Amino acid sequence: MIIDEVRQHFGKSFGGEPTLVVSAAGRVNLIGEHVDYNGGEALPIAIQRRTAVAIRLRDGAKTTRINSGGTGGVLTLDHASLARKRQWTDYPAGVLDQLIGAGVDVPGLEVAVASDVPSGSGLSSSAALEVSFGFAVHTLMGLDTDLVALALLCQQAERQFVGVPCGAMDQLSAACGQRGHALYMQFNPATVRAVPFTESVLIVDTAVPRSLRGSAYAERVDECAAALAAIRVVTPDVPSLAAATMSQLGSAEMPDVQRRRARHVIAECERVRATMQTLARGERFPGRLAIASHESLRNDYECSSAELDWVVEYAMRAPGVAGARLTGAGWGGCAVVFGETSALLALQESMPSDFAQALGRKPRTWVVSADDGARVEG
Ligand code: ADP
Ligand code: MG
Repeated sequence: MIIDEVRQHFGKSFGGEPTLVVSAAGRVNLIGEHVDYNGGEALPIAIQRRTAVAIRLRDGAKTTRINSGGTGGVLTLDHASLARKRQWTDYPAGVLDQLIGAGVDVPGLEVAVASDVPSGSGLSSSAALEVSFGFAVHTLMGLDTDLVALALLCQQAERQFVGVPCGAMDQLSAACGQRGHALYMQFNPATVRAVPFTESVLIVDTAVPRSLRGSAYAERVDECAAALAAIRVVTPDVPSLAAATMSQLGSAEMPDVQRRRARHVIAECERVRATMQTLARGERFPGRLAIASHESLRNDYECSSAELDWVVEYAMRAPGVAGARLTGAGWGGCAVVFGETSALLALQESMPSDFAQALGRKPRTWVVSADDGARVEG
């Protein structure tokens, strides 16, 4: 549907047909939270919530004329003077900035965007936008597209141009997703290995504004850096916090808060590896590890919320549910529930009204499965 939409928006904004339509995916992380910026590993899937980009070369000035969603008019990004404007165009502008910085002579472009990735809910609409736009430019220009490299370029766009100190998980998922597979990711250096995952999952957006998130996220990044520095006093050659062991953590001196943050990171990485090995054997997602992950995020990392805890507890009482946990950075945002598809669909029916009654707001829910990352649509 967004493919038809983006073609319509393109016609309305620029007239005629685009040369190319591509899309990239939103994502949900199955397990491995707050580990990407610690050199650890994660296990996300790309989902059937996608952002589409329709694109065509334009003659004349090297500017990108761009519209999103068919409303808000056509905005212009001048390739010679890209600057942060604190609006949505910063994401594509950041990608242009990276491409130009890498020596790509980007010609004038006409671009339309359409998306059904909910924005700001933690399903990574920003990465879907960056990657779909970057993939469109790459493909239109006939550039050699290594999807991991493209994802890392988009990550740098978000870090350097937009100013969000993000890890690479979102962009790697948006780019490298594979239908029917979860993506076992390592970040230092970035590698992606697909493992079979054909189950559905239920995503519950608790619809809580994440006002705390920016500052608390940066605080966790700092706490983890401090914990690593403390471990290195005793064990100098530890390459990252994720690579440290519990016994190395145990012999280092640090405040209790830093110790709990580090304990989460180290244990979470062990859970990711165990989950990956389980899926690689063709078995179902190990729900008990989802629960253990949630407890660690709630107690040690302190990034859960009353609403997320409510969803996890509610879900675990339902028959056929194997596990549930918060997903994404936390402090609001989404939870993910694992189990039989019929159980997830039943929960999707029953949960929202009980949630609303208990917590006074309506959650949004989606049942999804693993989809492709960046792909050409026509
Ligand atoms: P998330 O990535 O979890 O959805 P972010 O805050 O990282 O949340 O990114 C959301 C922002 O990305 C939006 O506020 C908007 O600026 C931008 N964005 C994402 N998708 C689109 C889109 N289709 N059109 C315009 N802007 C978008
Ligand atoms: Mg984002």
